[in-house]
Formats: sequence, C-alpha cells, structure tokens
Amino acid sequence: MQDLIRRLLAEFGEDPSREGLVDTPKRVEKAYRFLTSGYEADIDRVLNNALFSVDYNEMVIVKDIDFYSLCEHHLLPFFGKCHVAYIPSNKVIGLSKIPRLVDVFARRLQVQERLTNQIADTIRDKIAPLGVAVVMEASHLCMSMRGVEKQNSFCVTSAMQGAFRDNARTRMEFLELIKLRSGTPLRDASPAGLACVGDD
Ligand SMILES: [Zn+2]
Repeated sequence: MQDLIRRLLAEFGEDPSREGLVDTPKRVEKAYRFLTSGYEADIDRVLNNALFSVDYNEMVIVKDIDFYSLCEHHLLPFFGKCHVAYIPSNKVIGLSKIPRLVDVFARRLQVQERLTNQIADTIRDKIAPLGVAVVMEASHLCMSMRGVEKQNSFCVTSAMQGAFRDNARTRMEFLELIKLRSGTPLRDASPAGLACVGDD
C-alpha cells in the first residue's frame, strides 16, 4: 500500500521524498488499515459472551453512539451519531457491545443507508427481537468539503423493523427519546437513495 500512496502523492504534484512526506505512506497505510478493520472483524466474536436470556420486553435504547466511516464513492469520511433501540423477545445484547457492532460496520467503505441497515439486520439476526430501530445522523465531508449542495451534506437515515415499523406509537417513543436535530427529514434506509452520488 505504501508504494501506492507514494505514487498518489506524486500524482498530486508533490515530491514524496521531501522531509514532511517521507513517512506519510507508512502513516496513511496504518490509518487506512484501522479505518477498514471492520472487514476482518467477526461479529460472533465481537458479541461473544454478551447475549443474555431475559424475561424483559421493554425498549432497550443506546443513543448518541459516535461513529466514523468512509464514503465508498469518494473515500472521504462521513461521521455522526447512531441511535439504536430494540424490544427484546427473550434475548438481549450487552449494552457495551452495541457501539462495537456499529464500529464493525462503520470501519468499512460504506454508504450511510447500507450501514444503517446492516446494524439493524445484525441485531435482528442475533437476538430475534420484537422490533429493532436504527437511526444515523451524519455529516458527509465528500459533500461539504467539495461545496456540493451544502444542505444535503447532513443526512439522517433510519431502519425500522418489527414493532418499530408496525406500531406508530413505539416508533414515536423512540424518536422522542433520541431527539433528532430538528428539521432534517428522516430518510428511509431501505430504498437505494444514496446520499452523495448523482453529482459525481
Ligand atoms: Zn461520497
């Protein structure tokens, strides 16, 4: 990878051998390896020993989870907050594992819609809850840094399944609890409505 980065620097018009850039390929590789480490993570290992049987079916909510991801169209960051809720059927996930789960999928090349769905689908598959909801609010540097339609550089996506899809009161309760930044429309993550393409 370091050779590629050196070539990229030259392509930018830089001299890869100048003092400030000598170690840049090494650092960039390290950074990218970390930012894409989700490809190698094993979900079952991440959740290992953290699935518990319970006799409890009230909404479990983890909000304001910070996440950082890379837009697969531009390799630029998008980042923000993720809110997760589910209603257990007879299993719960240890609360500290939810942010880990978000990281596994965020540390890949992503589009926000797919990321949102993957988190919801994994929780559904692992504990078969009565419902699961994931909302992600993110700023996309690929849009704001390039000056593309600034109003769209902040994007909110949601995946609502089971009780959160079928029951408006449950959904409203969740949305009230997470208090979304007002005025930003909620975007259903299921259709392929991609945040940052269309402009190139
Ligand atoms: Zn992008």
